[in-house]
Amino acid sequence: MATIIRNTGEMSAAMALRRRRGETIGLVPTMGYLHEGHLSLVRASRRENDVSVVSLFVNPIQFGPGEDLERYPRDEARDLELLEKEGVDYLFAPTAQTLYAPDHSTFVDETALSLPLCGASRPGHFRGVCTVVLKLFHVVGPDRAYFGMKDYQQLQVIRRMVRDLDVPVKIRPCPLVREPDGLALSSRNAYLFPEERRSALGLSAALRAVAEAYEGGERSTPALVALAQEKLAQDRRLDADYLEIRGAESLEPLDVVDRPAVVALAARVGKTRLIDNIVIGE
Ligand code: AMP
Repeated sequence: MATIIRNTGEMSAAMALRRRRGETIGLVPTMGYLHEGHLSLVRASRRENDVSVVSLFVNPIQFGPGEDLERYPRDEARDLELLEKEGVDYLFAPTAQTLYAPDHSTFVDETALSLPLCGASRPGHFRGVCTVVLKLFHVVGPDRAYFGMKDYQQLQVIRRMVRDLDVPVKIRPCPLVREPDGLALSSRNAYLFPEERRSALGLSAALRAVAEAYEGGERSTPALVALAQEKLAQDRRLDADYLEIRGAESLEPLDVVDRPAVVALAARVGKTRLIDNIVIGE
C-alpha cells in the first residue's frame, strides 16, 4: 500500500527514517493525471531504489496568466490506483497552501538554458519549475530523481540547477514514451477533440521528417527546419509556436548539425499547446 502524505514535515520525517535504515530513495515529480510516460519513470525509480516517492502537485507558479492552471486535468483516485499497481511506496500530494507560504518570496532562476524555446513563450515558467523541484528535493532528499525527455528543456534546466547549486541528487533522464501512432503521451492530450487528436500527429510526423532528412545526410539547420515547417503548415489546425534545432546539452543555436542536437517543437492544436522533440546526431 502506498502511503499518502500531504504535509512537508511528515514527508521529511518519513524519508529521514528510511534513510537511517540505509535505504535509497527515488523521486518522480509529476503534476498527476498519470499515463504510461509517467509510469516509465516510476518503473525506473523502482528498479534503482529501495523506496520510491511520486509527487503529485499542479504547481501554480509555473503557469502564466491565461494558461490552463484551472482546467489542468486532475484525478487523484485514478493516479493512486495506478501507483499502487506499480508498487510505489509514497505519494506526496501537498496543497499549494502547504508548499507556498502566503508571503513566499524566494525563487530559483536558471538564467541561460531557460531563456529560449518554452522559456521565451512562457515567461517565468522555468522559474516556477526550478523553485518547486528544488523544494521537492529538500523535502524528500532523494538519491535519484527521474525526469522524462518529453520535457527536454526542463530536463536540461534541472540538470544545470543541480550542478550549479550543488544539489546532492542524481538526475536520471528517461526516454520519451509515445502512442503507437507516434503522438507523445501527455496529460494535456485529454483536452483534444478527435479531429484535433488526428492533427496532433503532425508534430511527431514533422520531427520524423527531420530525423529522416538528417539520416539522409542533410546537415543544414535552416533546411531541416524548413522541411518540418512545411509539414506543419499542411494542417490548418496546427499553429506552430516554435520549431528549433539546438545543441543537445547547452541548447545553443546551430547553423549546421555537427554535434548531438535536439529538434524541439511547440504547437497549438485548437486551444491546446503541445510540445514534442527528438534528439539527432547522437
Ligand atoms: P508532468 O506531469 O507533465 O509534469 O510530467 C512529469 C514527468 O513525467 C516529467 O519529468 C515529464 O517529462 C515526464 N513525462 C511526461 N510525459 C512523458 C512521456 N510521454 N514520456 C516520458 N516522460 C514523460
